[in-house]
Amino acid sequence: MTTHKDIVIIGGGAAGLMAAAQASLLLEKASSERIPSVALIERNNILGRKLLLTGKGRCNITNARVWEDFLCHIHPDSSFLKNSFFSFDNMAVIKFFEQEGLKTIKERGERYFPESGKSSDVRDTLQARAAASRHIDIIKGKRVTKVAPSGFHFEIRTESQEGTGETIYARKVIIATGGLSYPVTGSTGDGYKFALNTGHKITPTRASLTALKPASYDTTLVGTTLKNVSLTLVIDGDKVMKEEGELSFTDGGIEGALGFRVSRRAVKAIDNGQKTALIIDLKPGVTLQQLRARIERERGNTPIRKYLSSLMPSNIINGFIASNPRLNYENLPEALKEWTFAINGYVGYERCVITNGGVSLKDISRKSMESKKIKGLYFAGEVMDLDGDTGGYNLQIAFSTAYTAISSAIEAILKEDSI
Ligand SMILES: Cc1cc2nc3c(=O)[nH]c(=O)nc-3n(C[C@H](O)[C@H](O)[C@H](O)COP(=O)(O)OP(=O)(O)OC[C@H]3O[C@@H](n4cnc5c(N)ncnc54)[C@H](O)[C@@H]3O)c2cc1C
Repeated sequence: MTTHKDIVIIGGGAAGLMAAAQASLLLEKASSERIPSVALIERNNILGRKLLLTGKGRCNITNARVWEDFLCHIHPDSSFLKNSFFSFDNMAVIKFFEQEGLKTIKERGERYFPESGKSSDVRDTLQARAAASRHIDIIKGKRVTKVAPSGFHFEIRTESQEGTGETIYARKVIIATGGLSYPVTGSTGDGYKFALNTGHKITPTRASLTALKPASYDTTLVGTTLKNVSLTLVIDGDKVMKEEGELSFTDGGIEGALGFRVSRRAVKAIDNGQKTALIIDLKPGVTLQQLRARIERERGNTPIRKYLSSLMPSNIINGFIASNPRLNYENLPEALKEWTFAINGYVGYERCVITNGGVSLKDISRKSMESKKIKGLYFAGEVMDLDGDTGGYNLQIAFSTAYTAISSAIEAILKEDSI
């Protein structure tokens, strides 16, 4: 079977869904005689599978920081995002969701969540807005296997889970297939193949925002969380990064907000064969001398294990002692301020939050998200070499770039039709 569409969006994740939702709003307002037709194609039988996992099921929709603070959390080139951000910024994202009936709340660290605490409400809001337009066809359970420019159109091949093929011809295509992270959700790097086959460069990819694996650590630590600590990343003996906040020990290693924040540089260092270590400071608010004085003042004749319960959560005491086998009152202050883990690996794409690298930003127009190589081909979201820290930055990247891509594609179609 062959179908013709004006615009095809490949991938029904955060970016693809936002593109379809914005298409619905834009087409409602369009005054042209012929309204462009749009199809959203998602390989899974449900939309936004990864979106459902975000923010531990609560979805950290965006971050409210102003651009000057926001940009420090975007890598590798925040200036690429600037146009898109100002076309559809964090406050515009919140306004969109509120207007669509989803109440939001702001939490610590300027992070926005749905008030319901359910990421499914974010997905459902986007899906409902897209489905509200009769000009948008939502196709689920079909994987795009080929995207090829063919004359004035693109030939798009799809394959259903039963193996039946179909061809769709489109005038514009938006690739929103995500990266390689958490592939069980559907993001298996197909967009890179489409981009490569159409002459684009792919910046080498890496797992990022991921757990860092200590060479050894006591299993009693698994499942524990440390609040108000600092984490220093050491590469080849140099302290290259220090962050304060919260971290967790999991079966994957050291993660949580702090672990994720240093993981971008740590993963690169590990891949380069550099000696990598993490130092946890359990008492970042006091100097070593102050801590020593406090311990001297307080300890009396208390056995060290018992005294530790006044210094740290009880569920990490065994793990702390196991990491410091020669622990005594003399070396306790250093052990508390420099709990050191040699790091020899990290959790890969299978469970990381984001992919570093992707379609080279040099091949994409920052004003329109259109390819500089192939006219009519657009990119949105994680498939591009653009990613953010934890805190809502990655979804904002997906939403802003999707908005720019769909607005540009619709504008181009309307312009072509009016000639
Ligand atoms: C566990 C976890 C928690 C996270 N939490 C947050 C958070 O709270 N806040 C935040 O800002 N970011 C978070 N992120 C990151 C965020 O989810 C991503 O940045 C975002 O989903 C990227 O959106 P995307 O649309 O580009 O890609 P995806 O969401 O990965 O969507 C891509 C879609 O394309 C589909 N697809 C792929 N190939 C094809 C094909 N050939 N044909 C048809 N369909 C295809 C996939 O099935 C998928 O549905 C989290 C990520 C993970 C893994």
